[in-house]
Amino acid sequence: MGLLIYLNGRLIPEDEAKVSVFDHGLLYGDGVFEGIRGYNGRIFKLDEHLRRLYASAKAIMLDVPLEFSELKDAIVQTVRANKLKDSYIRVVVTRGEGDLGLDPKKCRVPTLFIIASSIQLYPAEIYERGLNVVTVAVRRNLTEAVNPAIKSLNYLNNIMAKIEANSTGASEGIMLNNAGYVSEGTGENIFIVSKNSLFTPPVTAGVLDGITRDTVMDLGRGLGLEVEEKEMTRYDIFTADECFLTGTAAEIVPVVCLDGRPIGTGKPGEVTNRIRKEYTVLTMSEGVPIYE
Ligand code: PMP
Repeated sequence: MGLLIYLNGRLIPEDEAKVSVFDHGLLYGDGVFEGIRGYNGRIFKLDEHLRRLYASAKAIMLDVPLEFSELKDAIVQTVRANKLKDSYIRVVVTRGEGDLGLDPKKCRVPTLFIIASSIQLYPAEIYERGLNVVTVAVRRNLTEAVNPAIKSLNYLNNIMAKIEANSTGASEGIMLNNAGYVSEGTGENIFIVSKNSLFTPPVTAGVLDGITRDTVMDLGRGLGLEVEEKEMTRYDIFTADECFLTGTAAEIVPVVCLDGRPIGTGKPGEVTNRIRKEYTVLTMSEGVPIYE
């Protein structure tokens, strides 16, 4: 049986859930989105994701057609209608239907849809063995141009980086910003562990203010680590004890090799594994209940 999709106020079967070819989300990538996880009958960090969605929309002068609590309710209803216990939820707001010009003034009604689907888990061996990553030549968007803090439908910057990483046979690409500092992966934030400290680039380095990033910083403090947002170079990664990536879909993935150089022991690190465990405990115990 197909999914039930929320589209502009209605839950409809997936084969009827269509948007116009004149939608500026499609024509220009003019819109914003969120990727959210449901675990064990609950939605994890829903308020945090929605706050970021409204902030992204505000930053591009887009009105989300529902109030915060209405949208929250629509998401819960969509997951419930699909009877999902564990889920991956995509919330998308576009500028809506316009003409072939790029002027958003012509788009009168934003498009809002919610897809709640079952989650495609990453293979277990990725977490056991860790990732080989490469630095890509494609630089992360300038914060003064298309700010990476906005989770917009314009993902071409990340896709170009992913294509480059794929072409080298690496599992993921690390993007530098225009000043040459490390920003993030193509769809994940990056952390390193050095001695008793956890470091991640600041949002001003041109990264998405990741929800998992935030959770991991809290978990790190809880484990007694020093946690610091700090500009970093490839040197810092080469000489780190451990490295990992964070994201809603991937959760916490160990990185064991950058540009052909092993990081630390070349195996997933102890701190990374501890944080992974703590993260799993959180996902199983927190969140907005779907079926109460
Ligand atoms: N950076 C980018 C570019 C992303 O698209 C994402 C989300 N996939 C992340 C980082 C991780 O953010 P979050 O932890 O909020 O999923």
